[in-house]
Formats: sequence, C-alpha cells, structure tokens
Amino acid sequence: MNDVCNAPGLLPIETAIQNILGSITPVKDVETITIMQSVDRVLASDVKSTINVPAHNNSAMDGYALCISDKSLTYTQVGSVFAGQVFEETLTPGQCVRIMTGAAIAPGANGVVMQENASVDGDKITFTAQPELNENVRFAGEDIAIDDVILKAGDKLKAVDVGLLASLGIANIDVVRNLKIAVLSTGDELIEPGQPLMQGAIFESNRAVIISALQQKNIDVLDLGIIPDDKELITNAFLKANELADAVISSGGVSVGEADFTKEVLNEIGEIHFWKIAMKPGKPFAFGKLSNSYFFGLPGNPVSAAVTFNQLVEPALQKLSGLGEVNPKMRFNAVTTSVIKKRPGRADFQRGTATINEQGDLVVAPFNKQGSGVLSSLSKANCLIVVPAQSGNIEKGATVSIELL
Ligand code: AMP
Ligand code: MG
Repeated sequence: MNDVCNAPGLLPIETAIQNILGSITPVKDVETITIMQSVDRVLASDVKSTINVPAHNNSAMDGYALCISDKSLTYTQVGSVFAGQVFEETLTPGQCVRIMTGAAIAPGANGVVMQENASVDGDKITFTAQPELNENVRFAGEDIAIDDVILKAGDKLKAVDVGLLASLGIANIDVVRNLKIAVLSTGDELIEPGQPLMQGAIFESNRAVIISALQQKNIDVLDLGIIPDDKELITNAFLKANELADAVISSGGVSVGEADFTKEVLNEIGEIHFWKIAMKPGKPFAFGKLSNSYFFGLPGNPVSAAVTFNQLVEPALQKLSGLGEVNPKMRFNAVTTSVIKKRPGRADFQRGTATINEQGDLVVAPFNKQGSGVLSSLSKANCLIVVPAQSGNIEKGATVSIELL
C-alpha cells in the first residue's frame, strides 16, 4: 500500500479514497439468476441482443399502409392488420391496408397515412396527400439491432434495465455474486438495544446504521455483535469475520491510545493502516487487508461512523462489488441560508436541509448543532454540506456544495 498511509499529519480524504480504491480487487464470482431477481445486481458479462427491436417494420400510426401510386390519391383497401397480426400478401401500387400502431407493415407497403387524412367510401380510400416514401414506418432494428451490446459487464441494473432485458426476451443473466460483509462494534460501554441501560453505558447504534445501509445494497450481512475491549475476543471475532466475509466493518477503538487491542490484533493478522483523515466528522479511520478480506475500522462516534461509512466505505464496496465505474458522489450547488462556521484544516461534512425556495433555487439550511455525537442531526438532515479543507467560515448567501443523503 502507498507510503502516504504512513505520512505524518492528516491525510486528505481524496487521497484516502484513492488509496482504498487502488488496493481493492473486485469480487469475480458469478451466478446465474432470473431477471426478476436482478434489480440492483451487477452484471458479470456484456449482454447482447439476439433480436431486432422492433422485430419487424411496423406502423407508427393508426391509418393506412399503402404501396405508393403516383396516379391517384384514391387507393383500394385489400385488408386490415391489427397489432400482433401479419398481412401476408404483397401490396401492389394503388393498394392499401387498414393498419394499427405497432402492427407489421405488409410486404410491398412503403408508407403509412394517418387515418385523419383519409376519407372512406367502401373499399375506396382517398387521401388528402401522397405520403413521402417510408413516412410513418418504423424499421426493424431501428432501436436495437441483433448483436448490439445493450448492457455492459459492471453495470448495476436499474428497474428499467430489467424491463429492457425482458423486452429482448432474456430470462436469465449472469451477475456478480452478492458481497458478504461482517459487521461488529467494539467497546465495553456498549449495550444492545432492548437491554437495561446500566450506569455509564450507552446503547450501541453503529451496527444498526451500518447493517441497515448494507441491507439496502443487496449485501449479505454477517452480524458479529458487540465485542468487549478484550484482546482474545477481538482476535477471535476478526479471524472469524475474515474467514467468512469479503470485508469486515468494525467501529470504535481506532483513536490513538484507546482500545489498543484493535490495532495490535490487526497488525498481527493483517496489513492495516491507521489514518487520521482530514475530515470532520470522522478523523480516525483504519483500512487494510486481512488474509481473505478487507478491513474498515470506523470511529466509534455515531456521526463519524456514519459519515466515514458514507464517504469512504461506500465507494470501496462499489468497487468490491464489481461495479464498472465508481464515480464520486454527485454534488450540487446550493445557496446557504445562514453562516457556516468552520476552521481551515479539515474537510467538513456538515448536516443540513436542502430545499427549493420560492424562486426555484436550491438552498440549504445548515444545522446549528454540528457535534459529531449528535446522531439525531444526521437523522434530520437530507444532505451533507461539503466544505473544502482550506475553507474558513462561509457567509450567508454564498454558494456551497451539497451531497444529498
Ligand atoms: P471510540 O472510537 O471507541 O473511542 O468511541 C468514541 C465514542 O463513540 C465513545 O463515546 C463511544 O462510547 C462511542 N461509541 C463507540 N462505539 C459506539 C457504537 N457502536 N454505538 C454508539 N456509540 C459508540
Ligand atoms: Mg471504544
């Protein structure tokens, strides 16, 4: 891993993300599943169409398909074709068939006139004008041709993509298998919700955040619970997690001087870097490799854990899951409705509420309380306001960058 991991001082968050992404090798195992189970899964191979879409030349209008004759505007109707039907006979100049949108164009037909421009007298149909050659005709393969690559390996399937696969008659596809992630929290003070709260103890919440976030991403979660600050128990938990999972996410005990066991154990069983990242909340963070998995050590502080998960672990999991392109989170410009207090040094991820004001502009109201222990502020927020490391206070009315949550 890069030397910068051992550099003194604070590591810029961009460098941390680059280091993490650079050292992750995506999971390659493939499984075949039905398309109905494939939403949000990552394609393992390119998908090519085996058919033309549309499958046959067809009408873009309700009207008359005809074989153009320069002689007269009056044609002879020789039949009708509705969607799903085919007219087998070949039209000759001056003949037409009644046709509905989407129905196959009869052989010999080279234009469609919409019904509004036709008057009917028995089987004699008179048009207001001759159509241009191929007017209102949709050609076979116009949308997708046989052998076109329609979705690529590494694409994450959206609901509409699943529909696209269905429209091409594809019932099963190869996807990268789901990630398996082990999650645990360390700390003697932590109590499982539902248990009585003892003096000096706090309810454990980081696993609830992380596991819930993982469940939303089709990830198989292995919940290893709360591990006390005990070297042997931590060693056993990390070894078990490493054996069963592609990645291990722990929280707590990454600050200097505290929970030394975490650091000690990880150095014994893997290659781990403890970073102080120039971000707020979330300074202490560990990343590394164990024999069979990647390790992410989040700060214990609930807001710091959630924000480092969001900023550092999410892109890592995207890469690990086989996603073709791991793009930075999308940012929008918004006008701040009040002053943003900040000291230069670390990139800030402040909590706020973004709305569209009466003028139609995107504005953001930063919260007063930005303490990194205040999980309720993150719960109320619908965005993070990203203030660059070098920036100081920002005045009301200035444009800032936000990431929607
Ligand atoms: P640590 O990083 O272990 O020093 O923890 C920093 C702060 O976050 C301490 O106040 C811990 O009690 C608290 N904390 C650590 N882990 C958790 C957790 N899983 N859930 C809620 N709070 C935690
Ligand atoms: Mg702790």
